[in-house]
Amino acid sequence: MRIQRENPARPREIVGSVPVTPVTAVDELARAAHGRARGWSALPLPQRLNRLRSAAAELASDADELAALLARESGKPIADCRGEIGFAARYLEWVCAHAAAVYGPTEIDDAEGRLTLTPRPYGVIAAVTPWNAPVILSVLKLGPALAAGNTVLLKPSPLAPLTVTAVAELLPETTVLHGGAELVQALVAHPLVGKVAFTGGDAAGRSIAAAAGQALTPVVLELGGNDPAVFLDDFALTADDYERLVLASFATSGQVCMAAKRLYVPQHRAEEFLDAYVAAAQRILRIGDPCEDDVTMGPVVNRVAVERISALVRDAAARGGEVVTLARGPGGDGYFADAVLVRTPPDDTPLVSTEQFGPSVPLLTYRTEDEVVFRANDSVLGLGASVWSADEDRAFRFAARLEAGFTFVNTHNRTGMSLRAPFGGIKRSGFGREYAEEGLREYVQTTVTHAPGVFRPGGAGLPARAYPAAQSS
Ligand code: NAD
Repeated sequence: MRIQRENPARPREIVGSVPVTPVTAVDELARAAHGRARGWSALPLPQRLNRLRSAAAELASDADELAALLARESGKPIADCRGEIGFAARYLEWVCAHAAAVYGPTEIDDAEGRLTLTPRPYGVIAAVTPWNAPVILSVLKLGPALAAGNTVLLKPSPLAPLTVTAVAELLPETTVLHGGAELVQALVAHPLVGKVAFTGGDAAGRSIAAAAGQALTPVVLELGGNDPAVFLDDFALTADDYERLVLASFATSGQVCMAAKRLYVPQHRAEEFLDAYVAAAQRILRIGDPCEDDVTMGPVVNRVAVERISALVRDAAARGGEVVTLARGPGGDGYFADAVLVRTPPDDTPLVSTEQFGPSVPLLTYRTEDEVVFRANDSVLGLGASVWSADEDRAFRFAARLEAGFTFVNTHNRTGMSLRAPFGGIKRSGFGREYAEEGLREYVQTTVTHAPGVFRPGGAGLPARAYPAAQSS
């Protein structure tokens, strides 16, 4: 059996297919990956990093071809796809540059004793990834997991399995499995899987966490967000800033975990904001075939998504939201949705209170800072947020009041990303971190070898009799 992936811009065109991995194959694949992990982790770190450096170079040199495939299977504009592949190559290089600081042993030898701290790989990592940025979200797991000495079983989304499968072939010690929820459950439950790294939605996250809990296997969960973008009353945006802001919500047709999903503007500046925002959207948004260079917004991922998003917008309109169309899709049978802004629907409208994951953003108005802090934080999710102000210090102070794993100042979404900034959510947006040294540490556990000074010839340090005395009393 094979999984076929159609081009969401032209659903009759099959871009490619991948073989389904039978659930019954998981045991053999996990045993094989576990067996190989011993040899891979025994290689000196510089040798493992050389393999990753070569993969980064190949990824960069194949970027055009891979980006063309990614655009056709995911519907993302070709420039975004090139950006994603290039960023994945850069991330691999970043891992290689920082791995020694995290994965090397630490030796301490002083009056308190001799201590060696050894970061040990988990063995086999099960990585489960979504379709919306399949290459970077897989490489974020593969890079550090492999550098640390783990082998990886990677299960990408059936909605964009092709490019990531080609990328995985460039990387050592990586086996790709294709299938759905049942396959993931078998993988996560396998006793030889040492850790699970998941990026995706709430429902899959819960069922993966439950299976991992049952198996006592640790997990990293990078889940969804409903990011607020808060404009303080002194916000000062240029025309370019407005364009960046529009893309913060509409890049990848709004299907980005950290898209700006709720815009909060002071009531007395709402008209001014709306005029400039609509003008910027009309300048910058062009919906169409993602392989055309001047297209900035492609289709959404499938027919179900088109219907789900248009139902959210219809519902918001029925509750009093005013729908402002920013750009229209080209029609035809592609999975296109219009880009819309919905003005002031009530806060309990699902378009506002849930992750809409589509090209439809609510514009909400507020009167006081305390009010907007409460409304921005009134969500079970806490992935990202942004604050926009002419006064950077004020923005940083305000950011501290927002419940988010990361808060951007005067930008939002990909333009705010930094390889050195840990990325991940609080509240129900998940736990664990990617990027930065924290992201590298997810793939090792520190083990300790300790000779306490007090028991060494001539040793000193801790009060010699403290513990035995306590035991005898
Ligand atoms: P999804 O949860 O439907 O799928 C993600 C992966 O999980 C896929 O490989 C899928 O096959 C698998 N899966 C689906 N249902 C499963 C189940 N019941 N049990 C086990 N595995 C299952 O997500 P998606 O639609 O591919 O991606 C969109 C979601 O991902 C959004 O909520 C988005 O915010 C989130 N996301 C989060 C981040 C982040 O870094 N926090 C990044 C990108 C996307």
